[in-house]
Formats: sequence, C-alpha cells, structure tokens
Amino acid sequence: MEIISIIYIDMSLEITTEAIVLGKEDAGEYDSRIFLYTKDFGKLSAKATSARKITSKLAAHIEPLLHTTIRLVSRGDAFEGRGFQLTDALTEHPSSKGDQAEVRSALAIAEAAKSLIPDAVPDQETWSMLRDVCDLKNHMSVRELLRFFGFDPEFSACEFCSAAPPQYFLPKNHFFSCRTCVLNLQIGRKELIEVR
Ligand SMILES: [Zn+2]
Repeated sequence: MEIISIIYIDMSLEITTEAIVLGKEDAGEYDSRIFLYTKDFGKLSAKATSARKITSKLAAHIEPLLHTTIRLVSRGDAFEGRGFQLTDALTEHPSSKGDQAEVRSALAIAEAAKSLIPDAVPDQETWSMLRDVCDLKNHMSVRELLRFFGFDPEFSACEFCSAAPPQYFLPKNHFFSCRTCVLNLQIGRKELIEVR
C-alpha cells in the first residue's frame, strides 16, 4: 500500500506518510516533540500539540516503536526535517508481542537511530531495517546499528586518548570515545550512544 501525498495549502505543506516513532520528548506543559523515521522523507521531528492532555487522540499513536501512518503540516518550505506539526496519526500495525528484553533492546536502537541519522534523508534500506526493529523482527544490537551506518566499533579507538575498544559513540562529531574520556570531558548522556 503506497500512501504518500504532498499538498500545498496556501503557504503550508501537508504530507502523509508511513512512519516509525523513534522517540518522544515533553515540550511545554501539554505538548510533545516526536522523532520519526518516515518512509518517504527520512527522519523528521514534529510537534504534537496537546498530546499530553488526557483527552488527546494522538497520544496513543505516538509512543516509541509504533509503526503508523501520519499526517504532518509545515509552514512554507520546511523540508529540512524540522518545523512540522503532527495533525493526525493512525497506528496501522498492531505492536508485536515481545518480551521485555526484546522491547528494551528495540528502544535502545530507536534512541540511537534518533541521534545517529541525519534529518530528511530518505533511504529505503534504513526504513526496512528500522521497521523490522520496531516490529521486533530484527534483533540487532547498537554495535550492529553503528556498523550499518559505517561506524564499526571493532576497528575504532577513542578519539581523545586512542584507547581501544571504545565504549561510546558521539553522533554529533562521529567520534568514538572511551569511558574515562567521556567522564573527564563531562559529555552529557544525551550526546552519547553506548556501544553494546
Ligand atoms: Zn579515551
């Protein structure tokens, strides 16, 4: 089933696409910011207004790992992957049943993918891989995810002190780092992917 549409209404852009929810953060008192990997547009983030209100219809459809069809609007030409507003979400694939460990490891992949993948670069291989991870059909490790994107921890060392093997990856700089340097440089948790 191919669901894709791009509609321009006045100065806003509306898109409908299949997506996987990689993560969700609180934004203000009632809103959420969600991070999506979409089939047609790659990684995007969008604001879900009032998603944290009990009455929100969106809330149930924007939990991490959900595979859903979404509608987004954006003002103007915000095609760099930001500035979107989530207007509709429909979970079309019931969540796969997995044990807690499977779900935890899929969540770790979604979280790592969220910081590793650049915005608005669609890629079918990445889409299929992430969809299978979220559907609990692919049980890859973070180490394998890094390798998928060309960062192999096995042949890498800490960028700062050359210790090997490295325990962390810094997605912003594409550096590997050891635990000691992460502590010494006081690099925040959010900027790190733990190699597991
Ligand atoms: Zn080091």
